[in-house]
Amino acid sequence: MSDAAKKVMDLAVRLAENHDLPDDALYTLITERNEETALFLRNEARALCERIYGRFVYIRGLIEFTNYCKNDCYYCGIRRSNREAERYRLTEEEILSCCEAGYGLGFRTFVLQGGEDPYFTDERLGSIVASIRGLCPDCAITLSAGERSHDSYRRLHDAGADRYLLRHETADPCHYGRLHPESMSFDKRMAALKDLKEIGYQTGCGFMVGSPYQTASMIVKDLRFMKEFGPHMIGIGPFLSHKDTPFYDMENGTAELTLYLLSVIRLMMPKVLLPATTALGTVTEGGREAGILSGANVVMPNLSPAGVRKKYMLYDNKLSSGSEAAESLELLRESLSKIGYGIAVSRGDSLVI
Ligand code: SF4
Repeated sequence: MSDAAKKVMDLAVRLAENHDLPDDALYTLITERNEETALFLRNEARALCERIYGRFVYIRGLIEFTNYCKNDCYYCGIRRSNREAERYRLTEEEILSCCEAGYGLGFRTFVLQGGEDPYFTDERLGSIVASIRGLCPDCAITLSAGERSHDSYRRLHDAGADRYLLRHETADPCHYGRLHPESMSFDKRMAALKDLKEIGYQTGCGFMVGSPYQTASMIVKDLRFMKEFGPHMIGIGPFLSHKDTPFYDMENGTAELTLYLLSVIRLMMPKVLLPATTALGTVTEGGREAGILSGANVVMPNLSPAGVRKKYMLYDNKLSSGSEAAESLELLRESLSKIGYGIAVSRGDSLVI
């Protein structure tokens, strides 16, 4: 092994032992990564995850309830300015029937994900949350509906929502400014995450790997931010361009770096809930299984009505059938069992205190 490779391997060993590294060492671990280090981190991350969570993967039933959004994030296929997007909203009845079907399939967590759609006022969304809570009292309800006020988050929590996913997107304010229009604010995003945690949600953040203009130092900032913030969940997936956005010709993120970072994140934050995302499954065949073998422990099959799935196109070629679809749980079970994992039928609460 060359001196350079030995240096990176030493850092990987230190990360596995201490669950942290100084920022400059994390930078080297990313920029000078090689196959051996990747394999070492992957095995350590997988073993650590197994010690904490066993050989089980948590499933979350994803319901994409609206693709209207008042924002215009440059990377997103359902941004306000995309006139090509065919817009839809699910009714309360449709959402409840997704939950009912999901419950029958074994889901004990529902994730209601949507754009920032002003139609879903606190009253409307709160009423939906309360109805799901009444229908499935033993389930966890996760919301992923963007930035709202502190009061709004509190009201939805009071209505029965347990968890909230809000990707921070980047911990670098300048980078944030290159991914979003001026009407959006880095400080507001960070404040929203703090609000969620303070209210008592199990809170998730995350970012895109290989997003336009992202550098290794920015990824280090993301890792540092997350380590300090202490999220219960972290969603990372490769950036994938969408043809009807300003970033249509930007290069996609890679599965290789995403998998590497999943291992690093597992080792830095051992108890965090870490999905193998649909974007990872889209960018490479078997990406989701590779994610589990790299330290992820959650998958989020799609429970949305089949008729709207193609309309929730955040990026091109997004998977929504096969084992990405909740009704094909058997396919998912099979593909996980091939890599030695089973599906946990439980709420799968975070162990992060
Ligand atoms: S990323 Fe979210 S907030 Fe931004 S445009 Fe897309 S749905 Fe809206």
